Amino acid sequence: MLEPCLHAILDSRSMPEKPLSLHHHENQTAPAPERSQKRISAELLLKRHRETYAGFYQRLVAAAAEARDSLAYSYRDFLVGCSVLAWNKEKDEYHIFSAGNYLAGKRTLRPGQRKDCAERLAIEGAEAAGYNSIVAIVTVSSEKNTDAANDEDNATLKPCRQCRDFFRTRKGEITGTTILCTVNDAGDKLGNATAQNVHAEEQTMRKFLNQYKESDQLPAIG
Ligand SMILES: [Zn+2]
Repeated sequence: MLEPCLHAILDSRSMPEKPLSLHHHENQTAPAPERSQKRISAELLLKRHRETYAGFYQRLVAAAAEARDSLAYSYRDFLVGCSVLAWNKEKDEYHIFSAGNYLAGKRTLRPGQRKDCAERLAIEGAEAAGYNSIVAIVTVSSEKNTDAANDEDNATLKPCRQCRDFFRTRKGEITGTTILCTVNDAGDKLGNATAQNVHAEEQTMRKFLNQYKESDQLPAIG
C-alpha cells in the first residue's frame, strides 16, 4: 500500500459533514420570550444530546467507517475510523467530525509523531472548528481489543491508553456522560458484514474510564 500524501491526511483528517440543521428546541412550542433567554437545564440538555445521538447513530457509524476506509493509514493495516458528535454551545449546533488513524512504521514517520489515533484526530478536528462539547464518540474497526481492563467483552476495539489519558485532559469537553460506542464490523469469517454480525458496544465515558486503574487521580470528568 502506498503511503498517502501527508498533506492529504492533515487536510482531510477531519471531515465535517454538511452542518446538521439541528437548532434543537426542547419544546414543540416556541418558548416565551423571557424563558428563551434562560439556559437549558443540564438534565434537559443531556436528554437532547442523547436524542440527537440516537437520531444520528447510523450516520455516525457510517462516517466512522468511511473515515477508516478512506483516511486511515497504518503500516500494518491496523485501521480505525472515528466519528464524533460534537456540540457548539454558543451556536447551539451539532456537527459530525470524523478521522482515520495514522500509524507509521519506522520508515514512514511523520515528524515527531508515530501514532495518531482516530479518536484524538476527530476530537481535535471538532475543537479546531469551535465545537467544544463532545456528545458521543463512535469508533469502527475490524480489530478486536487487545488492551482490556478486564475480561469483559473484547469483541470491539477500545480506545488506547494514550486516548484515555487524552480524554481525561478534556475537562468539560468530554464528560462522564459522553457516549462511547465501539463498533466491530469484521463480519463473518469471509469478511461479510451484515446487520446481524456487526457488533456494537455502547457505554458512558465514566463507565469506560472507571474500568482502568491507571491513575492515582480520579478521571477528571463529571
Ligand atoms: Zn488511541
